[in-house]
Amino acid sequence: MPIYEYGCYDCRKRVTIFYRSFKDVETKKAVCPRCGGENIKRLVSKVAVVRSEESRLDSLADPANLGGLDENDPKSIGRWMRKMSSEMGEDLGSEFNEVVDRLEAGEDPESIEQSMPELGADSGGASDDWFGD
Ligand SMILES: [Zn+2]
Repeated sequence: MPIYEYGCYDCRKRVTIFYRSFKDVETKKAVCPRCGGENIKRLVSKVAVVRSEESRLDSLADPANLGGLDENDPKSIGRWMRKMSSEMGEDLGSEFNEVVDRLEAGEDPESIEQSMPELGADSGGASDDWFGD
């Protein structure tokens, strides 16, 4: 259940998209969960280290570099998500941590999603405008 942050050019909000699998990341077109717009861009960070972070994240997302990730094993996915989080060097929030904890406990990703309907929704407020001035 990979998670990516995107910025939507249509509704100008930062959105988080949860994928069911890494295959979906490759094959499914990302669509803004707020407005349905397709004009979205994956975000990493606004700061100067973006390029290196992005390449690190890309390498993490590359199946060749996943280091034994088993998409069908929640514990494996949980470990990968924790690794991704530490690579990004930022706290992705309590929801993210709860998902990782539950994955690592062996819970089925689908049941986690069903029990957390707010997943994928924008949890931020007006300060969420990632475009700045
Ligand atoms: Zn949008």
